[in-house]
Amino acid sequence: MSQNNKSKEPIHISNLDVKFRLEVTSHQEASALNACFSCGTCTAGCPISEFFPEYSPKKLAKMVKLGMRQSVLRNPFIWYCTTCRSCDQHCPQNVKFFNILNVLKNMAVKEGYAPSPWVEQTRQIMKTGLVVPQDEHLAEKRADFSLPALKNDGIQAKKLLELTGIDKIIKAGNER
Ligand code: SF4
Ligand code: SF4
Repeated sequence: MSQNNKSKEPIHISNLDVKFRLEVTSHQEASALNACFSCGTCTAGCPISEFFPEYSPKKLAKMVKLGMRQSVLRNPFIWYCTTCRSCDQHCPQNVKFFNILNVLKNMAVKEGYAPSPWVEQTRQIMKTGLVVPQDEHLAEKRADFSLPALKNDGIQAKKLLELTGIDKIIKAGNER
């Protein structure tokens, strides 16, 4: 499962999914993956790769092409992206790796591999409409600055999120 650059784990052909690459590139925003020639420019400029050498956009792109579905979708590092889009800006092939990563994250969620903090936060937004829960301390701080109290009302947020189908995905995750 790890995407460690120094990993010597063998790749078993029986674990490869030949349809994975097609599934990913069938999304219009990820179709440029086919143009990737593994130059590594994206990895060289990625701030997450700098701190976590286990994470490499170039390597992830290659793993998708090989059909390493489980290793890619279960990889916790795909959630570390800062969304800086440096990989997009420097790619000589205009692959737009950031878009590919979003497709991979959506697939990971649908297949039940979303990290639990992400699931919890989504639930909280649906319940309260707030990304950061308002506790007593935060309420006092707001009052100190004469700011109105935040409403813990997720009705609108819930409606919006339900349009994306995320409520069903989270429910399915609970039943797995
Ligand atoms: S910079 Fe572009 S072409 Fe080079 S490895 Fe990254 S995605 Fe592929
Ligand atoms: S957008 Fe994400 S993957 Fe791309 S360079 Fe920034 S942190 Fe790395």
